[in-house]
Order: sequence, then structure tokens, then C-alpha cells
Amino acid sequence: MPKKYGIHTKATPHRFKAITKSGIIAWEEGCLKCAVCVKKRCVYKVYENRGLDARQMVDSVDNQCMNCLRCVQGCPKELIHKSVNPEYRSLGDDHYSPDIIAKLWYQAETGKIPVSGAGYPGPFSGQGFDGMWTDMSEIVRPTRDGIHGREYISTAVDLGKKLKHLRFHTDGDLTGDMPPLIDIPLPIMMRVPGFGSISGETIKGWAMAARRLGTLLFLPRERVHRRLNKALPFLVPEIAGKPKKGPRGGFRTRIVEITPEGEGEETFEAVNEAQPAGLWAVRLPLKEGVEKTALSLVKSGVSLIHLEAGYGGKGFGGEDIYLRDGIRLVHRAMVEEGVRDEMTLIAGGGIAMAEQVAKAILCGADAVVIDFPILIALECRMCRRCTKGLSCPVEIEKATPAWVARRTVNLMAAWHNQLLEVMGAMGIRDARRLRGEVGRAMFFEDMDEATFGPLGQGKEGFELE
Ligand code: SF4
Ligand code: SF4
Repeated sequence: MPKKYGIHTKATPHRFKAITKSGIIAWEEGCLKCAVCVKKRCVYKVYENRGLDARQMVDSVDNQCMNCLRCVQGCPKELIHKSVNPEYRSLGDDHYSPDIIAKLWYQAETGKIPVSGAGYPGPFSGQGFDGMWTDMSEIVRPTRDGIHGREYISTAVDLGKKLKHLRFHTDGDLTGDMPPLIDIPLPIMMRVPGFGSISGETIKGWAMAARRLGTLLFLPRERVHRRLNKALPFLVPEIAGKPKKGPRGGFRTRIVEITPEGEGEETFEAVNEAQPAGLWAVRLPLKEGVEKTALSLVKSGVSLIHLEAGYGGKGFGGEDIYLRDGIRLVHRAMVEEGVRDEMTLIAGGGIAMAEQVAKAILCGADAVVIDFPILIALECRMCRRCTKGLSCPVEIEKATPAWVARRTVNLMAAWHNQLLEVMGAMGIRDARRLRGEVGRAMFFEDMDEATFGPLGQGKEGFELE
């Protein structure tokens, strides 16, 4: 049994005051000027310790408040209120919501799993991964056994092609070449996001994190720099178009990724010509018919497909197809053709929460690639000022590589632990066995059909009596 994989975390505070969910509104008008103001009785001395952060020009009162509501209840004229901080509400967008951003900040700071209290407060429906639930029916022991090492759960996965069978010489030696295969200890890889106030130092920090975690960082080829030499085996340069001849297009990395210009044969020939013995990933944008393209690539010899969805986890080209469904289509096409083990399917684009890692693998991916969560881990507010050439409010580009690496490792540790928890609750002890286990998942549309389908369709204008 391989050595147990664990990620060492270290609390790494924010560099800037985080935007918190609740704010305090204290009206001066109508104040009784009572001798013993409730503000003085705050057990956390929030009002006494408050100050103005000159760098960000924010009052620290919201940041220090522990939400005990003592001041709210104690003010005789009810002049103190707690409310949702409007700045918090304006964080992010529909996909990276304020709550998701706040949880990612927490995980990057502490390396711990966020605890939301009793029960799940969200809706039991939605698009993409929101319309899917995991079956935790094996909870017969503490699900934390996997996290604390009392139960061995492996999250290692293989990247590359596996042989259907082995052939041996009469002397017992293997015959033929073994296809290149890489194993990584957790099924989560990282990719430099499409925007952000990202400097060479930021990339170095992410590369350090990839090396420490034993995973891979995908990055544009022009970002691969001599300063990253130590982390080269953990980098995946991305190349657009035809790869150059020579070992992995001139890179000393274990994998190179290309975004092909052509399809099937044409792509494989270009890759094969450049490096017949190397491991190449081919990036495929998620759109209608993607399973046919993926199948043609695999039949031509490509062993690593990176299925990529757009920013919100949706397909490109205006179709309403989500990453969840794209993974299922490609996985099923491979299974039906009997070539599933001849390829590795990695999926990325829009993965925003740890639960989505387990869901993507259940749908049929071998591993996932995450992008914006590693930027949000560095305090990004998803304000997009950087896309307009404006300054970053949290100066991400100035963060030291050591800080970037620690925050990224913390985030990945929290996600790794959540994966262990989900797998433990399902009774699955190997991430390779989680792949495509849809029997351990429930899909909203299936349950909707099973529950309400037999009732038939109501005709237009039909009214219940
Ligand atoms: S809610 Fe509690 S912690 Fe917050 S300011 Fe009022 S008394 Fe202090
Ligand atoms: S905080 Fe805003 S400006 Fe800074 S990287 Fe994030 S989106 Fe860009």
C-alpha cells in the first residue's frame, strides 16, 4: 500500500481586511447619550478597538464584530442594527457568489473545511452540478476517519493510457514499450486563470504549491520561465496550434498540452511527430458533439483529453450544456467503444467548490483542473478591475511566492479533506474507483421524472379542480 498522502497546512492570514458578511449600522440621531452605552459593553471590545485602515480606507468595526448581537439587543432606542454588508453583497458574480468567495478565503487562510452549521441550507435543484447530489449512505462511522488517517483512502489518480494486457518474453521480461503514465496524489490540478493581477511572483508561488502538493499547474507557454526550473516536472505548458518538433515541443516538463487546430488524425499526427514518446494533453472546448471529437482523438492515439468548459461551467458556442453533462457524454462514449482505459479524461472550467470535484469524478472524469479558486485564495474579490487596466484592490501581484504557495496549499488541503470525507461517506476508498460511479449519485432530472413523470403532462390551460 503506498504511503499515506497528507498535506501540511499552516494558518496564513489575509494581507488585507477581508470583506465580511455582516455589517453594523449605528445611528447617532435619537441617541439618549446614556451613561453606560452598549457599545462599551461589547464583550469583544469591538467599538473600542475599531480604527480606520488607512491603506484600504475602511472602518474595522465590521471586521472585528463576532455577531453576538449583544449591542443590537441592548440599545434602549434600538439605534444599532446588523445587516448584510452591501460591499459583501457586491462581491463576485452569479457563478462565484459572495458566499463561495468567503468560503474560499476561509479555506485558503486556515486550511480547514468550512462548517455551515446544521444541515444544508441551499436549494435541492439547479443547473449543472447544483442539480446533482451524492449518496452518502455508507455513513456508519465518523466520516473523518479518512481525514485523520484511521481509514486508508487513496486519492491518487493516473494520467495517460493503460495497457489492456501485458506481454512477457519467455524469460519473464516485459515485451514492448510501456506507454507514458504519470500518477499524481490528488485528482485536482491547477491552471493559471484567464484574468487577474498575476505577476511572475504569483506564478512562482503557484508552481511552488504544485511541487509541494505533487500535482500539476497548467500555464501558458510564455509563462514558463527559468525561475520555475525547480518546479518543471509539475508544470504543464499550454501550446496553441501545431506543436514544435523535439522533446515535448522543447519543454522539459512531463506533460505538454495543446489546443489543436484540426481534429482527430491531424492532431495526433502533429503530436506524434513532435514527440512520439511524450505525454500530451489535448484541450477540447465543451460544445455540442464534443464526445465524437474526443472519441476520434482517442482512436487516433491521444491518451489525455482535457475537457474545458467556459467561465461559469457552461459550454462554448451558446449551447446550454454544462460541464457535468459534457463529462458524462465523453465518459459514456468511451465506455461504449471499449476504450475508456486507453485515455484519461480531465475536466475543468467553472469548478468553484470542493464538492464539485467529487461530482465531476462521479460523472466520469479522472481528475479536475481548477482555475479561479486559486486566484480567490489570494484574496481576489472578482471585481475585474484588472481586466480594465485598473489597480488590484488587494495587490495580488505584490504577494510573495511563499505567501501565495501557502494559501494555495491550504486551499487544496481543505478540498482534499472534503474529498476524503465524501469518499468515506460513500464507502469508496480509491479515487480511481469513484470515476463514473453514477450509482452513487442522484440527478435532479431523473428524480423529477421518477416522481412526477407518471402523473403525465398537463395540457395548456388545464386547471386543477
Ligand atoms: S454584535 Fe456583539 S461583537 Fe458585534 S459589536 Fe455588537 S456587542 Fe460587539
Ligand atoms: S481583486 Fe479584482 S483586480 Fe484584483 S485580481 Fe481579483 S478581479 Fe482582478
